[in-house]
Amino acid sequence: MKKIYKAHILYTKEKDHFEELENGYIAVDANGRVTGVAADLASLGGNASQCCIESDASQCCNTEIIDFGDRLLIPAMNDLHVHAAQYRNQGIAMDLELLEWLQKYTFPEEMKYADTAYAARMYRYFVHDLWRVGTMRVCTFASIHTESTRMLMHLFQEAGMGALVGKVAMNRNCPEGLSESVEEMVKGYESLIEETFQETFLPSTASYSPLVRPIITPRFIPSCTPKMLRACGELAAKYQLPVQSHLSENRDEVALVQALEGTWYGDAYNRYGLFGQSPTVMAHCVFTEEEEMELMKRNDVVAAHCPTSNLNVTTGIAPVRQFLDEGVRVGLGSDISGGHNLSIFQVMVYAIQLSKEYYQLHHERPYLTLSEAFWMATKCGGSFFGKVGSFEPGYEFDALVIDDSNLNHDNYSLLERLERYVYMGDDRQIVHRFCRGKEILEPKN
Ligand SMILES: [Zn+2]
Repeated sequence: MKKIYKAHILYTKEKDHFEELENGYIAVDANGRVTGVAADLASLGGNASQCCIESDASQCCNTEIIDFGDRLLIPAMNDLHVHAAQYRNQGIAMDLELLEWLQKYTFPEEMKYADTAYAARMYRYFVHDLWRVGTMRVCTFASIHTESTRMLMHLFQEAGMGALVGKVAMNRNCPEGLSESVEEMVKGYESLIEETFQETFLPSTASYSPLVRPIITPRFIPSCTPKMLRACGELAAKYQLPVQSHLSENRDEVALVQALEGTWYGDAYNRYGLFGQSPTVMAHCVFTEEEEMELMKRNDVVAAHCPTSNLNVTTGIAPVRQFLDEGVRVGLGSDISGGHNLSIFQVMVYAIQLSKEYYQLHHERPYLTLSEAFWMATKCGGSFFGKVGSFEPGYEFDALVIDDSNLNHDNYSLLERLERYVYMGDDRQIVHRFCRGKEILEPKN
């Protein structure tokens, strides 16, 4: 059945301003796609809206009208970079720098995912909490372990949320328990891919929908031998799968890649077919300079900006404004557990604050505005998953309904209400969540 939702609608078609519809309407078809958005029913177009105006009922002409009253209706959040297998470490070991943090906390934690019972327990918390904070699509690292990764994919499928899930490929500069041979890595990926493809082509025997898919995930160049990187590039090309990894996060890391590969970071990925040959997202890009930025633009590589992680792991500040000016797509990532906050709303606030700090230091380009941060969290970040993150016709209806009555005690404008929610609100104000047109209820944990 078609649905028409009525509420105060806000979204960002363009990065520099919000579309605002007070008591507006969004029509969504049976496949979960937006067919119209308008200030009143008559302007929504289509036979159903005209027929519904005449019948004046909430169920009319094979369409259900759902009125959310004085609440805000906004696109759901997209998280472009997070580590599911580090979820237990969220908010701890924040006083360490990158390499020590990896050795003492991150690697030992990821090793535990050889145990699928442990993985099931932790991954349930992870999926549940993404739901709680209003993130309906996620691009996540799992661990090297195929069975735990499969389990994470199934949990997203069960929840009805969208996810690109990466079994992590790594075989050098890492503890033995987190190293896998190239052959095992390929075999593991192929078993995950096979399941996804079966589902795509034979929906009746589906184990999970294409909302959930594997993403090729070399941890980063220092963790992968050339043979491993080449195998990752070949898998991405053979199965037309997206790619995610880390890029230019830390000065020592950038120097190490230059020493290992004899070229700059982005170029090294590019040589292995891991830099835009299929849809690619790279986390951090703090020390990305002109040549690398140019290649990202040319190959349409998306940057995942992770401001909380930049602050916690003391890596530096990514030149986000420059990426936007150059036309490189940028989305936001919570980067748990380098980042400490799973809420992309809070990540938006940090992105704005950090860009102000960058401005203080460089005085070159203006800092980010709320609409730009919102656009990165929704339409721009969402573009990595398809037509996701906006309410324009043709977009998948991924949405949140915000009841901000406890934050709205005076005559605030709609935009002020949204800004107050972003800065001061949390999951308690999120009263409905939708992914691809379906209401997503609380997953079990
Ligand atoms: Zn990361």
